[in-house]
Amino acid sequence: MTDYGFDTLAIHAGAKPDPTTGARATPIYQTTSFVFNDVDHAASLFGLQAFGNIYTRITNPTTAVLEERVAALEGGVAALAVASGHAAQMLTFHTLLETGDHFVAAKQLYGGSITQFGHSFKKFGWHVDWADATDPASVKQAIGPKTKAVFIESFANPSGLVIDIAAIAAVAHEAGIPLIVDNTLASPYLLRPIEHGADIVLHSATKFLGGHGNSMGGVIVDGGKFDWSKGGKFPTLSEPNASYHGLKIHETFGAIAFAIACRVLGLRDLGPALSPFNAFMILTGIETLPLRMQRHSDSALKVAEYLKTHPKVTWVSYAGLKDDPSYKLQQRYAPKGAGALFTFGIKGGYESGVTLVNSIELLSHLANIGDTRSLIIHPASTTHRQLTEEQQKAAGAGPDVVRLSIGLEDPQDIIKALDKALSA
Ligand SMILES: *Cc1c(COP(=O)(O)O)cnc(C)c1O
Repeated sequence: MTDYGFDTLAIHAGAKPDPTTGARATPIYQTTSFVFNDVDHAASLFGLQAFGNIYTRITNPTTAVLEERVAALEGGVAALAVASGHAAQMLTFHTLLETGDHFVAAKQLYGGSITQFGHSFKKFGWHVDWADATDPASVKQAIGPKTKAVFIESFANPSGLVIDIAAIAAVAHEAGIPLIVDNTLASPYLLRPIEHGADIVLHSATKFLGGHGNSMGGVIVDGGKFDWSKGGKFPTLSEPNASYHGLKIHETFGAIAFAIACRVLGLRDLGPALSPFNAFMILTGIETLPLRMQRHSDSALKVAEYLKTHPKVTWVSYAGLKDDPSYKLQQRYAPKGAGALFTFGIKGGYESGVTLVNSIELLSHLANIGDTRSLIIHPASTTHRQLTEEQQKAAGAGPDVVRLSIGLEDPQDIIKALDKALSA
């Protein structure tokens, strides 16, 4: 399977005709539990001596196809699919951090992640230190003795900024810690972070992997290269585990240890399992990921070029534009396209942003990205509302910022709708 090209993997990786019925599409195994052959079989499954299905909170055959497919597309060794992107983040940090530990995260992140890291994670005793992901020196400076990971987005939400993954990976690896890359906005079609040094790749599958705005999901991809036992920083992976009679996860499972730990400890005990139905919906979406991402990128470039010339627009931030500060990094990391998402500044600030989203037709005013439909939002009054004005600006979501997620409609229709609303 690994010899096949990306478009072939997007359709076939992980899937084969159902051995019982011959069904060609992956069936939805809508069952909570699976019958054991006998007591010995059950014992070996519970003891992690054999791979197999016990209960859909931990594994499910439909979800397993999704996991294998995303691992193949990202060039990872294993993956775990969960209920949402935020669940993927929670399980990742649950595996890496002990109470009192720190991690460094980019300031340029999805607003929900800034809130999750800065507020809810505190209750677990996990501490985030913020850094400027456009400046590897800032990341290096934020790393301390208790820092266990660095977290960035490949294309940052909402600004669409392209981050120099290899430079940040070098800083993380010098400190003996893994780099986690949220690759939601780029998708593996445009950019594959593991090839540039990422150790763990995360997705909100809710967005481009699913692609149709109909199903929540998240994925954790294990790059398989990080040495979890070196330096004793990751006891969950390297030390004997009391809930499996002293089993050492890294020693036992080797390259796939991180994905295994996220499943058999994090997902088992915290519980954010993906529904098999959503796994099926996301799998179906992935079959057309290459076609959609190309069209999203091509249309977004057309819309960005149009807005750049509009008198009511003060600036456009899209990495695909030749004079954009991210253009060089986009050409290096994602030469096929800069994705669907970008921001622009509207004359008149906060009030004009609100008027635009209230008056526009065709584009839906909502808090999502990566739909077939074009979406618009004014982050300062919605997704980034919980942040201070300083955090909003640092995250690329100041009062005049409007964010677009360009869908798959005729680009001319999207431009016409923007034109009409901007002159309102
Ligand atoms: C939406 C999003 C998330 C959170 O994912 P959910 O599926 O909504 O939980 C995380 N990161 C990025 C970049 C996102 O866009």
